[in-house]
Amino acid sequence: MQLWERTAADVASLIASKEVSAAEVTESCISRTNEVEGDVLSYLTLTPEAARAKAAEVDSAVAAGDPLGPLAGVPMALKDIICTQGTRTTAASKILDNYIPPYSATVAERLYAAGGTMLGKTNLDEFAMGSSTENSAYQITKNPWDLERVPGGSSGGSASAVAAGQAPFSIGTDTGGSIRQPAALCGVVGLKPTYGLVPRYGLIAFASSLDQAGPITRDVRDAAIVLQVIAGQDPRDSTSLPSPVPDYVGALAKGIDGLRIGVVKEISGEGVDPAVQARFREAVQLLEKLGAKIGEVSLSTFGFGIDIYYLIAPAEASSNLARFDGVRYGLRVDGPDVATMNSLTRAAGFGPEVKRRIMLGTYSLSSGYYDAYYLKAQKARTLIARDFARAYEEFDLLVSPTAPTTAFKLGEKTQDPLTMYLSDICTVPSSLAGAAAISVPAGLSSDDGLPVGIQFMARPMDETTMLSAAYAFEQELGPLPKPPLWSTS
Ligand code: GLN
Repeated sequence: MQLWERTAADVASLIASKEVSAAEVTESCISRTNEVEGDVLSYLTLTPEAARAKAAEVDSAVAAGDPLGPLAGVPMALKDIICTQGTRTTAASKILDNYIPPYSATVAERLYAAGGTMLGKTNLDEFAMGSSTENSAYQITKNPWDLERVPGGSSGGSASAVAAGQAPFSIGTDTGGSIRQPAALCGVVGLKPTYGLVPRYGLIAFASSLDQAGPITRDVRDAAIVLQVIAGQDPRDSTSLPSPVPDYVGALAKGIDGLRIGVVKEISGEGVDPAVQARFREAVQLLEKLGAKIGEVSLSTFGFGIDIYYLIAPAEASSNLARFDGVRYGLRVDGPDVATMNSLTRAAGFGPEVKRRIMLGTYSLSSGYYDAYYLKAQKARTLIARDFARAYEEFDLLVSPTAPTTAFKLGEKTQDPLTMYLSDICTVPSSLAGAAAISVPAGLSSDDGLPVGIQFMARPMDETTMLSAAYAFEQELGPLPKPPLWSTS
């Protein structure tokens, strides 16, 4: 097995036990990236020199017998919406084309401090708005399973980098599904933490009441390891939770036996592709075999998740994106006066989906429409949280498919934003409730041979139960085939 094929846990232990050096691991991932990047286009910026320098530091620490962080020498890729000091950070937007942050996000700082070596910044839908990564202002990322298909989005570059063997793990952000849906479409694991568990300081904001960063990995253990590193309060994010961080890795072995697991009717049947449904049902049988008590649960508000999300997220985006005005950051298109300069900059700097969201958000927040749209959506959001709470009186975890389809063809949904929005039907409820969720590969669709993900949803702050169930499921299912691209070396 080549080093680039290894998981983060494997790489970290091989380096700590001096079986391989961090430099060798880094070189393996860099050469793998050179080999496949032209096909998949996962990255917006590559930082091989920074990765080599960090690997050299780790190797000196190993030689000196210094204590090592849990990710010492592990290569990683960060979504290009996460600020990295001195490294260009674009949010895949022309408006931030020349933006070099003067500081790093908490998530990035914690990963560096744990010993991670950053290979580069990954592609995304502009400002994380989208479900296919086709809204990037720079390039179209391809799905390693089929280069004519999307990797999902908005963290499509982060998911494809892990699935193509370019990095053992990456970080994505999830506002309505952007970690879980691309993870499902690329056949990898993606975890959206409870809102407030992972600090948002230094993430370029899309919808602040929903945004969370989280790991995309090749297995559940790695997701637990990375979450352990990035979770925990940071006073620089006022919404970050003060609760202690549990031992996620230690809890993996707890298993599934005796857990009550509810299948959510509204997001597991109608509207979900039959081949995805079939694979999902088999996954549920496996959970039952492992000792879970399975029941069906109907949560009527989940059917309104998309409607609620597409009022709240654009409303917050319209406010957050007001800061990109040609004065504070990035692009500036001059005009005869300040107002014209602002509007010329925004007209040239933002892509069509971002403009659509700003218009939707501004409309729903405007006087006369606020009560009918934004306020109503906020009330409905509370009802979703209540539906979850009711379900958790009866169940420990809820499950559904992660996405209604497997990876779709490039260009298939770009002309029809509403169809694209439906890609998030299974993922938005946990986002609106601020709860935790993870997507784990459940096998391949019998229809098109592409990956299908199962989503485990947990109570807020119950990542331990969610991870232990996901881990037991993954172990029982056994290793899955790798994407065709895996064998090109
Ligand atoms: N696809 C959803 C959207 O377009 C979710 C995006 C995200 O989670 N960042 O808003």
